[in-house]
Amino acid sequence: RKISEKHDKVFVNGCLDPKVQQTAPRANAVFVVLARNKELDGVVESLKSVERHFNRWFHYPYVFLNDGDFNSTFKETVLNYTSSNVEFGKISPEHWGYPSWTDENVAKEGIRKQGDQAIMYGGMESYHHMCRFYSGFFYQHELLQKYEWYWRVEPEIKYFCDITYDPFVHMARNNKTYGFTIAVKELKETVPNIFRYASAYKRTHNLTSQGLWEMFVEPKEGFNQDGTPKDSGAALKPEDLPKDDPKYANAKQKPMPEDILRTEPGAGTLPDIDPEAMEGEVYNMCHFWSNFEIARLDFFRSKEYQEFFEMMDRSGGFWMERWGDAPIHSLAAGALLAPSDIHYFRDIGYRHTTIAHCPANAPARQLPRDPYLGGLPRLLSQGLTGGFANAEEEKTMKEEDEYWAH
Ligand code: GDP
Ligand code: MN
Repeated sequence: RKISEKHDKVFVNGCLDPKVQQTAPRANAVFVVLARNKELDGVVESLKSVERHFNRWFHYPYVFLNDGDFNSTFKETVLNYTSSNVEFGKISPEHWGYPSWTDENVAKEGIRKQGDQAIMYGGMESYHHMCRFYSGFFYQHELLQKYEWYWRVEPEIKYFCDITYDPFVHMARNNKTYGFTIAVKELKETVPNIFRYASAYKRTHNLTSQGLWEMFVEPKEGFNQDGTPKDSGAALKPEDLPKDDPKYANAKQKPMPEDILRTEPGAGTLPDIDPEAMEGEVYNMCHFWSNFEIARLDFFRSKEYQEFFEMMDRSGGFWMERWGDAPIHSLAAGALLAPSDIHYFRDIGYRHTTIAHCPANAPARQLPRDPYLGGLPRLLSQGLTGGFANAEEEKTMKEEDEYWAH
């Protein structure tokens, strides 16, 4: 294959005239915003930014979702900030809360303990429900059934640069499934067992890595993510591959021991897992930061993703640990997709709370591409797109903040 086919490139260089772009056909796409009434100010902040930098030209509709009812102030206020079509939906109890097979007392006790242990959001029951909803159910909501693509928006986000092209259309044209703009490392204590289950899913379904899985695997000492030795950078010959390294395993690999897989209904706790069972494969905590996400809904609606979610869910990890939807989406992508299915929106300036991505200093512009995987895993496993790259970048962000505060 030609190198260029493997590389994930910026869709559009420089600015287009959005007035011209807006005359082109739209994708079947929607903004999805999960929120509570009390987050109205943060929602307005996000809407202003999305509309100002993109949607005033493209007019994509919004779906707002809530486990409760949106009040009239919320709905009326939202309508003041966009001329697009807006729908407000309530999430049904089957998609939010404890499933019937969970022992609620065990789950609540697990959550209480995570609170005691000062695990971020670990003691907040609603946050566990939110993560599980975004992991396994948002794409099943009736208001989203008619759409093929979504762009996730959260309260208190900010876009810094005008987005002058249609990212949905370009993703479709380039055969992309999942787009991100920031990748960071997860807090270990929120997901101690997540990778064991994700890895078990991959093995029990005889999935061979298409090259993305390695992005989430801590490199073995002495080897890079792509299996090349650290010192030489030369490609390994098959006979040189470390024999017990699961990165090189195929369907003949020993399956995970039975007791690691929780498949029976009623499971509400994670069993003890022998750390040796991972055969040395360790999660590097890298994940796409899912509060920004542009993706195809049919990826999540696929049988494969659904099975992945169900297996993860049955483990009880959404309660006994605080699995975020970000590592869930990311590990599913790792198991089911190839690097070429992923698009890194390095040109989109974005901030949510403390983490931002500024295109001017995007590391992708500064580092050489990895010839094997288009540079993606190397960049991401180092968490290079998260946080401020330097003081200059932080200064730019502050100036933007001040400007838009007026
Ligand atoms: P963080 O970004 O990880 O700090 O978490 P957030 O508090 O921003 O929550 C992530 C998303 O889920 C945001 O869109 C919130 O508005 C939404 N969210 C979180 N908890 C709830 C909840 O209990 N109900 C509803 N309706 N939305 C929630
Ligand atoms: Mn948030």
